[in-house]
Formats: sequence, C-alpha cells, structure tokens
Amino acid sequence: MNILLVTGESLPYCKSGGLGDFIWSYSKALAKLGEHVSVILPLYDLVIAKHPEAEKEVYDRFDFHMSERTKWATITKTENEGVDFYFVRMDEFKTMALYGYPNDNERFASFTMAVNTFLTRHNDYDVVHCNDWQTAVLPLLLRYNPKTIKTVLTIHNPAYQGWGLRGDLSYFFNLDLDYYDSGFAKLGDSFNFLKTGIMAADKVNTVSPTQARELVSDHEAFGGIGAILDWCRHNDFSGIVNGLDTEVWNPKTDPVLPENYGSDNAEEAKKKARRAILAYLDMDLDFKGPLYGVITRLSAQKGIDRIIRAMDGLHAADGRMIIIGTGELESEVMGACWRHPEVYLVNKYDENLAHLLYAASDYFLMPSYFEPCGTGQLISMRYGTLPIVSNVGGLADTVKDLGSGEEATGFVFNGSLPDAIYNTVLAANDLFYNNRKRFAELQKKGMSGEYGWAKSAKEYLSLYDSISWK
Ligand code: ADP
Repeated sequence: MNILLVTGESLPYCKSGGLGDFIWSYSKALAKLGEHVSVILPLYDLVIAKHPEAEKEVYDRFDFHMSERTKWATITKTENEGVDFYFVRMDEFKTMALYGYPNDNERFASFTMAVNTFLTRHNDYDVVHCNDWQTAVLPLLLRYNPKTIKTVLTIHNPAYQGWGLRGDLSYFFNLDLDYYDSGFAKLGDSFNFLKTGIMAADKVNTVSPTQARELVSDHEAFGGIGAILDWCRHNDFSGIVNGLDTEVWNPKTDPVLPENYGSDNAEEAKKKARRAILAYLDMDLDFKGPLYGVITRLSAQKGIDRIIRAMDGLHAADGRMIIIGTGELESEVMGACWRHPEVYLVNKYDENLAHLLYAASDYFLMPSYFEPCGTGQLISMRYGTLPIVSNVGGLADTVKDLGSGEEATGFVFNGSLPDAIYNTVLAANDLFYNNRKRFAELQKKGMSGEYGWAKSAKEYLSLYDSISWK
C-alpha cells in the first residue's frame, strides 16, 4: 500500500506532544512491514535550524489559489529510515514554534491546500491519513481529486478543533458555502475544521478504545464533537492505542542514562539515574523517600491542579517531585513550588532530561482530566517507573491498577472521587516504604509489557483495508 501521513508535526524534525511521536514511530513501523510510507508536514524555520537536510532536495514547486489569492509552495524531500519525508515550504511557516499564532487557521488551511495540490500532481497514493484539526479539511477537498483516494482522520486531541467563520470555507478552501449552511462543516455557530473531517473522511478513529467510548457517550464533550461522533459515525468510530518508539525509549540502550538496565539491574541503575538528575539540578542527594516525576505540557487537561494537590503528600514521606514542563499554567506551578520546597520545576522543553527523569523516578504522575492515549505512562512503565494515572482514555486502557493482581503495573485512581490523587500518593508512599516486594513486582510487570507498534500498526492496516474503493 502507498500511504501518505499528513501532519503538523513529526519527529525527528519537530514535536509539541504525542502526535510528533506517533507519526515517526508509526511510519517506521509501517515501513518495516513493507508498506510504502510518506509523511508530509510544514517546513518550519525551526526544522531548518536543526535539520538543514530537510530543505536540500527540492522535489516540486507549484502555485495554487485560495479564493482570489495566489500562493506558492515549494516541496522538499528527504528520506529517513525507510520513510519519505516531504516538507511544504511557505511563508506561513517561517516560525520558530509550531502552533499558537493568531493566524493558525490560515496557516494550516494554506498547508492543507498545498497538500491537496500536491496530491493532484502526485496522485499515486492509496490512503491519505490525516491527523488532528490542522489537516482535517483535506478529506473533503480530496472528494474533488480526479483519482479515488481512501481517507482516514485520526483524532489525537479533540480539544483542538480549528474554529473559523462561515466565509473561511470559500476564502481558504474554495469550497461552497452550502457545506456550512447544510450543517456539514458547522458546529455551533462556527465553521469547524475537525467536524468537517469527521463528516468527510472515509474512516475516523481516535487513539484508544476508552477514549472512543468516552467521546460518543458524552454529547456535551468538546463543544459537541462527542454528539457528532455518536450521531454521524456511531458504528464507524474506533480506538487504536498508540505504540511507542521502542528504539528511542529503551532503558537497555538509552545513551542518556548513566547505566543501561533491564529488570535485573533496574534497582541499581535507577539509583544512579536518580543521583545524576539530582546532582544536575543541584538538589539534595540524600533524601530517602520516593521521587515523583512529571513530564508534560502544563495545561489544564493534564490535571495540573491535581499535581499541585499531590505535592501535599511529599513532605511527611521525605519525597521529592521533579516536573519538566512548559505551558499556560506555568505561574500556578511556580507558585506551588515556592510553597513546596520538595518540588523542582524545569521550565523548558528538554528531551534528554526527560529521558533521565523517566529512569530516575519511582513514580510518574499523569492525573489527566482526559487523555486520548498518552505517551508518558507507557514510557514510564518501560523504564521501571510506576505510573499513577486517572481512569480516563488511554490511561485506563494501558495501566493496570495495584488491585489487579499479577497484571498490576501502577495506580489508577477514580478522578471523580474527591481528593483521589492525594490519597493515591499516600498509598504510593506506603508501597514504596512498606512493601518493596510488591513494588518490584509491579515494576517488573511494567517493564516486560509490549509497547511497540506490532499490534497497532496491523490494526491501522485493517482499518485502511476496511474502506471499500468507491
Ligand atoms: P500530549 O500529546 O497531550 O502532549 P502525550 O503524553 O501523548 O501528551 O505526549 C507528550 C510527550 O511529550 C511525551 O513523550 C513527553 O515525554 C513529552 N514532553 C512533554 N513535555 C515535555 C518537556 N517539557 N520536555 C521534554 N519532553 C516533553
């Protein structure tokens, strides 16, 4: 099969969250299965700065129209581990960040229109797989492509949707305003990029079965996206758990760690990682209690208020917490650190330090309010760090609670119960001090889990196969 993944981000070039991990690890897995796989994404200045090879080979150059405006796009190409990467160079992407600009709708509409034009010039793809709101209008545009192409839309985060105006349909996408007036592209009183994709794609999925169920069962969710999925895609909306890049996230080979480890030498090697990160951050080396790690965007979705509540469980247990994160709630976290000297915030994006913290921690906190799949809990289990998660989305699908006998890998708390996070931290402290044997069992079980793409890549291929040629 000839597959094109369309995305706003992909490692090894750029990443803001789990989507960047997903595209890179999934595309490599497809290539290993013998599929011909390509990825297309914007050529941000940020990418050129770190990966000059991305702009070396010019593959195509063309113009296209967005209503009365003419725009130019240059397509560059590079190959990486069996995956063809195409980059769309346009003025809109002369930026050092990926998202968060006031004209994001126009930036990603331009990208989508450029990819649409690319697909009229290079139309040998069988499947075009779009990801999140930035690329969600493409399946509708491809209905006008002379060649039949199967389309899939994966929703990685339903909270981001691309809300625009009725007129954007024609101003950005040259589409008939009937798509708005008929309700097809409309949610509430706005044009909605994500809803348009949900309506137009041949298949729509999200990144865990529990998240899929949660979405269709809550009609209020995410401005009504839950209701649209239930009414319009009910029997046709699935959840496929993301795999991890098990080469990048491997404690046996990870070059960042002071000592590599498997479950046999985890205890000693993790102690060395702990000393290394504490020394690097100039923290007290001699505390005896558990080290809690947090690596996340500091946004409300991630349960930052719960993380702050968890800090109350540190002092009496001589515990510490290290948070690596950036985002809207930085000042709240800084205030909490000031009140809790046991907590250290590393307020930046730091891939290497993240590797070290996954290895150094005893527990990894991920108390999200919603979590489509989640990556951090998978990495932490692989690194012998017990995850403490809320019972939502992919967290519920991938972590087994202490009470699940031999299958247990961590703590899964019920977010609807008051103070559940605080009580769970007290239970985790207790396990750490008073039941080392059980702690080691959970650690071993987590480390032996199957987190790669073997199963999920096949599920995606079956999803593609299930689309009939129109
Ligand atoms: P989301 O995609 O919602 O942000 P995920 O858990 O799926 O959440 O993916 C987040 C990924 O980004 C994880 O691999 C995590 O380790 C990484 N990450 C988040 N913040 C940082 C940071 N400040 N520094 C390094 N890595 C980070």
